[in-house]
Amino acid sequence: MQTQPILGISGCLTGSTVRFDGGHKRMGFVMDELAQWVTFRPVCPEMAIGLPVPRPALRLIQTTDGEVQMRFSHAPHDDVSAKMAEFAENYLPRIGDLAGFIVCAKSPSCGMERVRLYDEKGNRGRKEGVGLFTAALLARYPWLPVEEDGRLHDPVLRENFVERVFALHELNTLHARGLTRRALLDFHSRYKLQLLAHHQAGYREIGPFVAAMHEWDDLEAFFVAYREKLMAILKQPASRKNHTNVLMHIQGYFHKQLNVRQRAELRQIILNYRAGLLPILAPLTLLKHYLAEYPDRYLLTQNYFDPYPDDLGLRLAVA
Ligand code: SF4
Repeated sequence: MQTQPILGISGCLTGSTVRFDGGHKRMGFVMDELAQWVTFRPVCPEMAIGLPVPRPALRLIQTTDGEVQMRFSHAPHDDVSAKMAEFAENYLPRIGDLAGFIVCAKSPSCGMERVRLYDEKGNRGRKEGVGLFTAALLARYPWLPVEEDGRLHDPVLRENFVERVFALHELNTLHARGLTRRALLDFHSRYKLQLLAHHQAGYREIGPFVAAMHEWDDLEAFFVAYREKLMAILKQPASRKNHTNVLMHIQGYFHKQLNVRQRAELRQIILNYRAGLLPILAPLTLLKHYLAEYPDRYLLTQNYFDPYPDDLGLRLAVA
């Protein structure tokens, strides 16, 4: 059983010299920090369709009838879109075990958003394109966490991506071990506070959905629907306001054990977090301390306290 999340990654981001100009775009955070906690499965779609290194640059062309094609910049009639589509069609069904994918920004093959489009005469158009490989990836796996290297420099997006990766990995592992209703219920129960931190309405909507699991004859079909809902909620950024609600909720579990001074101190730390004066690590550390002191069976199960390895330092970074 694979114990680390498996991530797809554009090959050039790992430091492989696969770019059209013979270079790479090695990403420090990914290769120096994240690499300790995940297994990478690199791919360079352009090399996979048989292009050499170095090679002429490619670009996305929007034809007059609205179709987007990938062609060489110096030979605008040489269309490699069909080759890329064929590669994606063969490759994508083989990566259903992935927990995420990191793609290279701006590339006509790998870019996730804002890739430059050109018209058929070679004029620069808007940055509204999606790389052809990544477009196929997103279409086939809409629940998969996919991020670009550039966006992962943003601490909030980085934390959200890593959190989703570890959640999907756990769900994939549960699926690989053999689905049971009990295992799915336990999984959902452990993610309740985490979901609440991301999206209150989503949290309220998914609860009754899970409670009605017994009405589904096909557990696999339920799993597919549940995975989509869960990952959509986790994709919503966990706001400071929602985190505050969750922290206050957790605080309530220690009402009887803490004295007046301790309760006031805890409350103030949570409010200081809400006001942006402290990182979330401050109230969380104190709550974890009280949880160790006064164990609560429900809270101890909650993934909210440790959604990914602490050593990644992400909760320090998101303030
Ligand atoms: S962006 Fe994608 S296609 Fe281009 S070199 Fe990197 S991995 Fe290869």
